[in-house]
Amino acid sequence: MSVIVANWKMSLNLLESSSLANQISDFYSKEKMESSVILCPSFTSLDRVNKVLQDSNIKLGAQDCSEEKMGAHTGEVSAEMIKDIGCEYVILGHSERRINAGETDIDIRRKLKIAHMMGLKIILCVGETEEEKSEFLTLETIERQITTIIPEGMVLPENILIAYEPVWAIGSGATPTPAEVSEIGEFCRGIFATRFSFEKDVKFLYGGSVNASNCASVLKSRFVDGVLVGGASLKFDSFSKILIIAEELCKQS
Ligand code: PEP
Repeated sequence: MSVIVANWKMSLNLLESSSLANQISDFYSKEKMESSVILCPSFTSLDRVNKVLQDSNIKLGAQDCSEEKMGAHTGEVSAEMIKDIGCEYVILGHSERRINAGETDIDIRRKLKIAHMMGLKIILCVGETEEEKSEFLTLETIERQITTIIPEGMVLPENILIAYEPVWAIGSGATPTPAEVSEIGEFCRGIFATRFSFEKDVKFLYGGSVNASNCASVLKSRFVDGVLVGGASLKFDSFSKILIIAEELCKQS
């Protein structure tokens, strides 16, 4: 069963988010889909989208949370608030947060701890920059991110998903080859098995310029359990195509 995460970023207003969620939810039930679909609208649309998804198996996720538990942190949204509004998931460590808000692995670790304590499942984004890739530091970067951010002995495999999102692939149209994605997937599995002694596999997603034309090859790759979709999740036409492809592949396997 594939996992398809839609990251709507700061793109859709309240009406646009709720009507897109409505279309996706109708489609999901009409097609009797089994894939696990997680919609991540902006904070301001979470409540409305949650209401739209009330009778659906589609899950709700937030795009970030505060590293503080509560209190005097103007402009922040806590993990508890996110949980309270109906989210089951939260995306952490997205490269746009790292780049635009200067988030470090240590900041993300604090967020992860709090989100986990609040009972949220974490979609942790990892991935190398273009510079790191050109210096052959991809594996080292990913290992550093995973081992710094995830506290040993704290989370279980079912509470965390890894989204491999090479920074150079986000919104750029460029993608790694399916073989490269598989290699990273296998590498991450190895880290969880050896460093965290996980007996079960952590779900491994790929994100970065996923669309209806390339998602089949990504989803067919070994060690890949799903995709995290940004731009192509903002329109029903492009997102529903991805959902159909994911569903067909599930049925074939
Ligand atoms: C993202 O930002 O998480 C993402 C995957 O974006 P895009 O699909 O637009 O590259």
